[in-house]
Amino acid sequence: MRTADIRTRFLDFFAERGHTVVPSAPLPTPDPTLLFVNAGMVPFKPYLTGEVAPPWQRAASVQKCVRTLDIEEVGRTTRHGSFFQMNGNFSFGDYFKEEAIAYAWDLSTRPVADGGYALDPAKIWVTVHHSDDEARGLWRRVAELPDERIVTRGDEDNFWHMGVPGPCGPSSELYYDRGPRFGREGGPEADEDRYMEFWNLVFMQYERGEGSGKTGFPVLGELPRRNIDTGMGLERMAALLQGVDNLYEIDETRPVLDRAADLAGVRYGADPAADVHLRVVADHVRTALMLLADGTAPGNEGRGYVLRRILRRAVRSMRQLGHEDPALTDLLAVARTCMAPSYPEVAEAYDRIADQAAGEEDAFRATLKQGTTVLDTAVTKVKAGGGRQLPGAQAFLLHDTYGFPIDLTLEMAAEQGVEVDREGFTALMREQRERARADARARKSGGAVDTSALRSVLDEHGPTDWRAWDTLTTDS
Ligand code: ATP
Ligand code: MG
Ligand code: MG
Ligand code: MG
Repeated sequence: MRTADIRTRFLDFFAERGHTVVPSAPLPTPDPTLLFVNAGMVPFKPYLTGEVAPPWQRAASVQKCVRTLDIEEVGRTTRHGSFFQMNGNFSFGDYFKEEAIAYAWDLSTRPVADGGYALDPAKIWVTVHHSDDEARGLWRRVAELPDERIVTRGDEDNFWHMGVPGPCGPSSELYYDRGPRFGREGGPEADEDRYMEFWNLVFMQYERGEGSGKTGFPVLGELPRRNIDTGMGLERMAALLQGVDNLYEIDETRPVLDRAADLAGVRYGADPAADVHLRVVADHVRTALMLLADGTAPGNEGRGYVLRRILRRAVRSMRQLGHEDPALTDLLAVARTCMAPSYPEVAEAYDRIADQAAGEEDAFRATLKQGTTVLDTAVTKVKAGGGRQLPGAQAFLLHDTYGFPIDLTLEMAAEQGVEVDREGFTALMREQRERARADARARKSGGAVDTSALRSVLDEHGPTDWRAWDTLTTDS
């Protein structure tokens, strides 16, 4: 079943059951706690908190999501994309636990001819919160699930809240057993790549008070109006229904992977390390396409920096595959063909998207050309001396003279089995900042102007803002 079909079936199923179909919000979100929408419920937050009266009692959507925290997982696990689509059904004070469970079960297992996904019911496992006997009872009754496939979990995994006072409640997740080829037996507790989570149901029934951390807050009582928020991973369902091993091999991403392999002259499946690079390219090119289409431009901070880093990682992965010529526009065109049927905006904005990506690729190629030999020589020297750590001064030189952001140095050194003395690097950065301040003071008081120091301050806050990445991970 094609991804576009899985998507339509989801919306049709819930529309037939009284849900209003709401289009995806753009990826960049005005939500002050996030850079990008990272879950289907984000655009509905004001309705879920009760801040704004919901215009409908039931809604369904397929929401574009970007999760920066999952970027490092891409290509290494079988189930994490940096961009993905979350199919969700929502109840705002309308139906609750029983219907939410029944809908998820029905759509997942219903025959294809009747509009369902026809997953094998014998391979579905679920988790419930330890306090939620009601959910356990419903899974037994509604789905006739045996107790062995209903796993109890604690607050860490199965209690949802927004980190601030407001609605909260237990959750329940659906997992699919993909068989021994994917990992150990024993349910989701044993192996989350073999038992792949595909749907997450949140039952908002309580109100939480002030407090901190995952669990350090009181539950004040029942909400007057209970809500349902669910999220089904569209790509994960596609991987299950298309019988492929991972998210990067489904119909919406595989053509990009194949094109990357063609360009690089490698065969997917021949070498595990190269396969990771191919999957990273397939994922990142699509993410970049979707971000560029929604108006994010590469830059030095915030959203722009996430996009820049994704584009750069795609370029570097191609180089690691042995392809050194520009590749982004070629790959983006393939991703466009995959995504345009569901997202016409990627075709409409394609010329601009291709221009922006090509500009970014050119600039990055120039940076790499300047710095790579310097880095490689320094790494070779460290290794020859029996060391394992690149001196902070080297990282500083790469940053200051060659425009290598520290995260690039960290990544490229790690690939060669070498760490970086981050503290040393940070200390040099600080010294440089202080020098620049002193110079600025001297200039104010009529002293000589050292423009090189000012220039380096600009460099630090400008093209190579290495701290941006560390401070971005506010999402889940
Ligand atoms: P996991 O535990 O596998 O990382 P999650 O619990 O973090 O998933 P949720 O926050 O519950 O995921 O999101 C709801 C659904 O969205 C998940 O059940 C899954 O199907 C899908 N999903 C979550 N993260 C990703 C991702 N990075 N790529 C693709 N699909 C995802
Ligand atoms: Mg996760
Ligand atoms: Mg999970
Ligand atoms: Mg989950």
